[in-house]
Amino acid sequence: MESYSTKLTWESLRPRGEKQDWAGKVWFKGHVPSHAFMMWVAHLDRLPTRSRLASWGLQIDTCCCVCNHFHETRDHVFLRCEYAEQIWKMAIRRLGYRPVLFHTWDALLAWIEMRVRHCPSTLRKLTVQAILYRLWRERNQRLHNASPTPPQVSFKEIDRQIRNTILAMKHRRNFKNLMQIWLTHE
Ligand SMILES: [Zn+2]
Repeated sequence: MESYSTKLTWESLRPRGEKQDWAGKVWFKGHVPSHAFMMWVAHLDRLPTRSRLASWGLQIDTCCCVCNHFHETRDHVFLRCEYAEQIWKMAIRRLGYRPVLFHTWDALLAWIEMRVRHCPSTLRKLTVQAILYRLWRERNQRLHNASPTPPQVSFKEIDRQIRNTILAMKHRRNFKNLMQIWLTHE
């Protein structure tokens, strides 16, 4: 292959069979490949979280790299860690929702799927994937002893990423009006 293709990798790795009902939440039209790939691996719970590494017999500290309090599992890093919660709160507000936090992966997936008039699912998927990607990067930075990024700064990056994606995809039908909606509750 000339260049790395997430799509081809996915095609060669995925189990053949019925299309999974979560596939549309990961590989939706206009997704950012690196973000979708991250969500896919997270969905399968294959990320090398410390709890998973320990379950393979590695003698390591299983504490979350970000908060240093709880076991580092996928659901903790992405949903329940205090750092993640602060980012979700900012994002949820920006999407025009009343405060809500997801404590399980299934709850997050169910929220993405819910039909609501004020917020198209494409914008929710875009936001969710950008958040997951940023959270995992923060986790890796902390693992390598980088100084913590304040959640507000991380959210600014997420905001910029979402704006850039919407601009790049503005010719697509499912991206119509997304910028306006994303900026409504700024
Ligand atoms: Zn934590």
